[in-house]
Amino acid sequence: MLALRMKYPVSVALLSGLLLSACATLHPAAPARSVVIDALKHQPEPLPAAEIPLDKREYQGPAAYAVPALAPYAGPKKPVKNIILLIGDGMGPAQVTGGLMANHGQLYMQQAQATGLAITHNQAGKITDSAASATAMATGHKTCNGAIATDSAGHQFRSIMWDARAHGKATGLVVACELTDATPACFAVVHPDRNDAEAIAAKYLQAPIDFMYAGGLKYFTQRQDHADLLRQWRAQGYQIATTPREAAALTGPRAVALLAETGPPRLPERTAAYMRTGVGKALEVLGKNDQGFFLMVEGSQIDDAGHFNDASYNVREVLDFDQQVGRAFAFAAANGETLVVVTADHETGGYSIVDGSIPSGKVVAKFATTKHSAVVVPVFAYGPGSELFTGLYQNTEIYYRIKQALGWGEGKTP
Ligand SMILES: [Zn+2]
Repeated sequence: MLALRMKYPVSVALLSGLLLSACATLHPAAPARSVVIDALKHQPEPLPAAEIPLDKREYQGPAAYAVPALAPYAGPKKPVKNIILLIGDGMGPAQVTGGLMANHGQLYMQQAQATGLAITHNQAGKITDSAASATAMATGHKTCNGAIATDSAGHQFRSIMWDARAHGKATGLVVACELTDATPACFAVVHPDRNDAEAIAAKYLQAPIDFMYAGGLKYFTQRQDHADLLRQWRAQGYQIATTPREAAALTGPRAVALLAETGPPRLPERTAAYMRTGVGKALEVLGKNDQGFFLMVEGSQIDDAGHFNDASYNVREVLDFDQQVGRAFAFAAANGETLVVVTADHETGGYSIVDGSIPSGKVVAKFATTKHSAVVVPVFAYGPGSELFTGLYQNTEIYYRIKQALGWGEGKTP
């Protein structure tokens, strides 16, 4: 998730400087776009670690939830029909550990049937952003930071959601950020610059997605071109929700819920109901499809917490994400033909746990950066095909191994 839109005022002049080629690193004359964004995103500069108030570096709380043991599916062996891909934006191994300690030693992620590690670097071999990493997972191609399912040469990459639709599967995106943000956008559209929110919003009208649940309403209704994209979606047969009550009443098969003008608020303001309703409704609507579904769920704000070096925010978002993992695992345990893959696009914050305890649910964190880091990220899998996700491999393999599990391909990055 990119947080600059809501956290700090940004001057028009600075913003215009953002509208650069998404692949600026490949054009020597252009300033490095990611540097510009990071500079904006963190104004004013965060305080040095020693001056960060204690409550931002520590988390302590009662166990948020108990994790009942899931019985793996014991019925007849079935091929994979449904995919649930959960992406914790900015969730490295330490973020998982922080959640584990904060919830007194228990996470749903522990119930995975296979674990692996994904290498996240971008096309240039440098630290990735969410756009390049989501492009890798959605299309099997490495690209430059900022690019949505395309690259500096203008190649357009096909999202796995198009393959899902071609195979008769229903598709969905449930995120805690704007629908136009990089991670969901890479599964839905092709665009050279992740910051062109209105242009990305317009492309969603042709996206291969049946169910969407996110924020970012203003890019669909308060546009420079005065187009009413919700009206156009309705004309295509989509149900539209802009309130939680309307979202809870959606029946599908095609539906869009946009529940905040920009990004949904952080926890605890957002409340657990936001993701619970989104994932529950997605499984209800998409699960009606006889030929299965592909659902991507993002824990979007783990990344924001890392950028802001805020340990409490980080733990709350990891625990909220883990509960969606639990929902997905429980669905798969009962269903028997659902593969769940849990991973991250990159690590954010250079997060490290330097003290704390499991009995007290205390986490004392330090951060090495306000940006992303290069560390490998965890992969957890559950259900038929989960054995494909062991090992240490490139993030493009998430795409290829899901295709292999579905019987659609070789499962190897070319
Ligand atoms: Zn980030």
